[in-house]
Amino acid sequence: MEEQDVISGVVWLNGKLTDYSTATVSIEDRGFYFGDGVYEVIRVYDGKPFGLDRHLNRLERSAAGIELALPMPLAEIGELAKDLTRRSGRENAEIYIQITRGRGRRNHVFPESEPTFLVGVREGRRIPAELLHTGCSVITRPDERWARCNLKTIGLLPNVLAKEAAHRLGAAEALLVRDGLVTEGTSSNVFIWKAGGLATPVADNRILPGITREITIELARKLGYEVAERDIPLGELLDADEVFITGTTVEMMPVVKVDDHRIGNGMPGDVRGDLHAAFMDLIQRNSKGEV
Ligand code: PMP
Repeated sequence: MEEQDVISGVVWLNGKLTDYSTATVSIEDRGFYFGDGVYEVIRVYDGKPFGLDRHLNRLERSAAGIELALPMPLAEIGELAKDLTRRSGRENAEIYIQITRGRGRRNHVFPESEPTFLVGVREGRRIPAELLHTGCSVITRPDERWARCNLKTIGLLPNVLAKEAAHRLGAAEALLVRDGLVTEGTSSNVFIWKAGGLATPVADNRILPGITREITIELARKLGYEVAERDIPLGELLDADEVFITGTTVEMMPVVKVDDHRIGNGMPGDVRGDLHAAFMDLIQRNSKGEV
């Protein structure tokens, strides 16, 4: 694939079809001034968006959570995303949706403005296959985010800083810790397996209710695993037999090292492997239009 192809993609911005290299928004946009907006990232496998309805419903909840009216009915946003995916001609892609509170002279009070609405489709990022075999290392960082992490808003500075810290240390992700409890990764949710049960932090205002997290819980219960949604102290995570992170981009990634601690025997575990196989099966059924 040409570099240019990766940059261009297909972009729909405020009603106009364009591409990533030419689409621009005003410097007076609320997203630029205040990070005042919401977004979604949806994966496309075999030309078919995966979990589209779940992502759209979360977009609606995020927008409502910041008192932002959707620029068009949810079903039409879905049709637009599907149409752009077809136009992009891509099999493996990522749909990005962002809505900000539009533009206006810089003032905290909401402007009288139409939202800025972007839907883009470009080549999807693939997870390095070797990481699935070897597992990844993560670091821990204090969770310095606000009290409404359940909303998928574009103000991601604490996540950005923590992920950059991980990157500089050669780690794949930073797990965030609040009051001694692991909340989630900067762009992923976290699961542990210990003593015959799976656990993941409860989906309250401290974490983003990940779509992959939700699907993982459903698949795990179907496969007969116990899943507890509860607080996870960092010490318990370090002592787990398996740790893995979930997300639209990372799918289900085994974690074998957290800071300087080895997890389990230092190899990806069977439970995550089992769940990932079920996840891949679901993706294939989605591709064939069976689910
Ligand atoms: N937590 C955070 C903070 C995220 O940004 C993401 C990525 N959207 C996730 C969890 C995983 O969510 P999903 O499975 O919906 O991609």
